[in-house]
Parts: sequence; C-alpha cells; structure tokens
Amino acid sequence: MNDYKKCNLCDGTNYDPISSLDRHGQALNTVICVNCGLVQTQPMPSEVEMAEFYRLEYRKRYKKTPTPPMKHIYRSGHRCLARLEKAKAHIKPDMQAVDLGSGAGEFVFLLKTRGVKAKGIEPSEGYGGFAKIVLGLDIQLKPIEKAKIKEESLDIITAHHVIEHMVDPLKSFQTLAKWLKPGGKILAEVPNINSRMHAPSRRFHFAHIYNFSPETFASLGKKAGLDVEEIQIEPGTEHIFAVFTKSGQDNVQVDLEQGLSKTRNILKKHTKFSHHLSAYPYSRFFNNLQRPFREKIAISGQTDPKELLQKIYDNG
Ligand SMILES: [Zn+2]
Repeated sequence: MNDYKKCNLCDGTNYDPISSLDRHGQALNTVICVNCGLVQTQPMPSEVEMAEFYRLEYRKRYKKTPTPPMKHIYRSGHRCLARLEKAKAHIKPDMQAVDLGSGAGEFVFLLKTRGVKAKGIEPSEGYGGFAKIVLGLDIQLKPIEKAKIKEESLDIITAHHVIEHMVDPLKSFQTLAKWLKPGGKILAEVPNINSRMHAPSRRFHFAHIYNFSPETFASLGKKAGLDVEEIQIEPGTEHIFAVFTKSGQDNVQVDLEQGLSKTRNILKKHTKFSHHLSAYPYSRFFNNLQRPFREKIAISGQTDPKELLQKIYDNG
C-alpha cells in the first residue's frame, strides 16, 4: 500500500479495490477512497509520465492518427455547438476565455466566431499544432502547469473532459482559480462514475485517473476555494456539468457521505447482467449506426478544415 498516494480530495489513505482491468482488458488498478468516495487509479502515474503520454501518445492511441481527419472535425464542430448551447448563459462577447485541453481548437474557433477573446491550452503537439497552424488560433502547446496566463485575467475557463485526466486535479483547480478575475467562472464537464450508460467492463480508462461523482467533483472545486454555482447531470450522456465561480455565490450543498454510499451502491448493482437488461446499450448501438452515413454526406467535397468549421458554425 506504500506506493499509493494520499487522496487528492480528502488526504485519506484508505481505499477499497474496485477493479483491476481497464476497458481494453489491460491491467489498471482502480480504487475508491473509503473516506470521501473519490474513485481513482492507484498507484498513480507521475506527472512526468502523463505529460510525455499526452505530448505524443494520446491522440495516436485513441484517435488512431496524430492530426485530425475531416470527419473528426465535422463531428467535433457539432459537439462544440452543443457545448456552447449549455454554456451560453455564462459566455458573452468580448470576454477573455481559455479552453483547457483545447484539442484541435474547434471550441476556441467557435468562441471566436461569437466574439469571445478565446485562447487554448493543449499538451498534444499534433492536435494543438493543427489548431495553431491550420486554424490560426492562439494555443499554448503545454500542460496546464507550464501554461503562461496572467493572474486574474480571465472571465471564463472551459474544461471539457479534461479534469479527469489530471494527476493532481486539486492543484490544477487552484491554478485555474488564480487565473480567474473576481466573478470569473469555470465551466467543466467530466464523466460520471454514477452513470449506468456504459457496460461495467468499459468503465475504466488509463487516461482517466479520476472518476468523479457529482459530490466528489463539487467538493474538489470547493476545496480549491471556488463556489459551486450549479451542477447537473447531462441528459443523454449522464456526464457531470458544473459551473464553479470566484464570486462567493455558493448554491450547492455537498453531502460527501451520502455521495460515497450512492457510488458504492451503483458500482455494486450495475453489473454486466443489469446493463444488458437496460435500454442503454441498444440506443447507443442505433445512434452509432446512423452516424457514418450522415458524416460522409456532410464532408464530401470538403478539403479545407477551417472552411468546414466556419460553415458548421455559420449555420449553428
Ligand atoms: Zn478521499
């Protein structure tokens, strides 16, 4: 147990085992903190290991290519429109914004078309380089710890499926909090360990060091000195979407103990058998069937990724 780190959320050192395999059947040790309920990889990879992994491997491994093909740009463009729809109550033209883990830059590009002064931070050279060179965006090609952002300079930070990849998410949140102006906000979405959408064997992922519940995610923001303005479960995906503020306006009460027993219960009851009795696997299957045809039609004849995105965003 000596090589297990202290829990990032509560400093606890007692964990119960949850799983010894990742979604590809490779060894990956996942545990739950018995004090606060934060589900995490232990022993944890080091920051140096993860930085190197993201710099080179991540896009290759998960997207099978170091730079984005047109169908990914197309798909991502539409997802970004949906992201903006959720976020638009908080984002206004002329705001200073940073998209953390900005990938190929599709969301930064979208914000700019809406008049927001947006930049990105992205550790992957392939995708981040594409955002800089092909889309002409202001992207820092580095991990968050090395990014250069002035203190109290930002109105908005967006982090879409990023925080679960951090080795030390508390430290990352503290850094983000420093960058925010008073009244500034972080809009963050992460996967939800309490979701029943994925088969239990597909739950864990080498790159997802933390598996948050609404309770552990809200608590992490609070521990970093932020207030939780809202937290919701996304219909359709069951992801967690949270708005953290530097405003002293705290709307969300967190009961970690109740969160812990809820997560434990779901992990116990959501088995391979119960998953296949639910409607989830079938609706995913049918949605995925239609997708390649729609995409093929939409991208046929398109060779310029910037033009493709502009067209999607002009119509969105
Ligand atoms: Zn803990």
